[in-house]
Amino acid sequence: MGVLAVYGVKNASTYLYYGLHNMQHRGQEGAGMATFNADGQCLRYRGQGLVNEVFHPENIASLEGEIGLAAVMYANVAKVGLDNVQPLFFHHKSGDFAIASDGRVINAAQVRNYLEKGGTILQTETDAELLAHLIKKNHNEDRIVNIVSALNMMEGGFAFVIMTRNRIYACRDKHGIKPLALGRLGNGYVVASESCSFEIMGADFIRDIEPGEVVTIDEQGLRCRQYSRYKRHRMCAMEYIYFARPDSDIDGCNVHAYRKEAGRRLYRECPADADIVVGVPESSLSAAMGYSEESGIPYEMGLVKHKYVGRTFIQPVQEMRELGVKMKLCPVRSIVKGKKIALVDDSIVRGTTSLKIVKLLRDAGAKEVHVRIASPMMKFPCYYGVDTSTPEELLCSHRTLEEACKAIGADSLGYLSPESTKASCMGCADPCQACFTGEYPTVLYNEDIIKN
Ligand code: AMP
Ligand code: SF4
Repeated sequence: MGVLAVYGVKNASTYLYYGLHNMQHRGQEGAGMATFNADGQCLRYRGQGLVNEVFHPENIASLEGEIGLAAVMYANVAKVGLDNVQPLFFHHKSGDFAIASDGRVINAAQVRNYLEKGGTILQTETDAELLAHLIKKNHNEDRIVNIVSALNMMEGGFAFVIMTRNRIYACRDKHGIKPLALGRLGNGYVVASESCSFEIMGADFIRDIEPGEVVTIDEQGLRCRQYSRYKRHRMCAMEYIYFARPDSDIDGCNVHAYRKEAGRRLYRECPADADIVVGVPESSLSAAMGYSEESGIPYEMGLVKHKYVGRTFIQPVQEMRELGVKMKLCPVRSIVKGKKIALVDDSIVRGTTSLKIVKLLRDAGAKEVHVRIASPMMKFPCYYGVDTSTPEELLCSHRTLEEACKAIGADSLGYLSPESTKASCMGCADPCQACFTGEYPTVLYNEDIIKN
């Protein structure tokens, strides 16, 4: 999921539209936008589908105001009904407000139980709604105190942005698992899950929001607070590996630079005797470049991506996913025919993509296909909002390297080590790699006890 907010900018909704468009890769199931107009009225429009399917000039123009909040939704539970499309909007006697979130609160079931037992009736399955109620359970006159108290009742990897009629609060989890960047836009400000949205908006990057920090933006400018004394920096490695755009900088590390370094290290750890290096477009191209540079094996465009098909993984049903791979990628027969190929991909989740691509390349005449993955073997689920599938579905949760290689039909298979994954990340000394190592940066909760 992706969140974006602007403050102190004329025609806020137009800027939000362009910025949101650049964060489309963070979620394709739904998009929403809310603004406060000059009369303090909150206006909102949201829908299911892509940003350019939901928004058009008329509804963008109807969202008047100089302060706004927007989000794209990702179906990590294979369902994003319209009710769950953010930002959510709340009426309250102390003032209306809107909230959008990225990531996942891992004690959401406990918080939900606590709220429902106290008589709260919840309308969505979102963490944003839980936060709204927790904030309003506290009755301090100073809103920031209520926000800080509410955040301290939540555990997980999350980024929340709260908008009132004259203020934005940008909050990042105390483990620093989710990214959140701050920028300057004219005389105003912008906050976004990824800095790649700044360029198109004409904004200048200021800095990342710190783990555990709440930044308040209003007429006084910026004010910063730590909502917790506990502070770690465990930025999600999968953001660097796959999720984020290469033109984003996260916690001081450019995503393309990370991937290229991972590709270089991948060659050092898992060299392949190959004629050409082929990357799986788009997210693996940087790693493939690094692999090629380090090995001296020429990089070739052995696969071409059909631009107008969405990311396969995000299609909720397996049959659609499999069809999606075929629709998305075409081998370049004249380039791959008779060649020994080092095929570089960023990750293997279920193995669907790798199996299809190895077959596509062989059918196009490739002599050998050596698959090299620029991340470690994915064996464990993610509890922080990234859909890395259930353990049973993960290719490597129950297979050895040799078995995984056989399952995808490759001549050989190699993965980057967790040590090199860590070392490739110039911005974060110890990123979360729990889906590879099983070492989760937070405590984990048992939801089953609550359900019974
Ligand atoms: P699979 O076919 O299930 O093995 O998916 C692997 C492909 O999906 C890789 O080539 C990645 O580019 C991409 N991918 C990896 N992790 C994710 C994720 N959490 N969400 C969406 N796509 C992903
Ligand atoms: Fe990212 Fe994996 Fe950690 Fe989830 S478990 S936050 S996907 S590194």
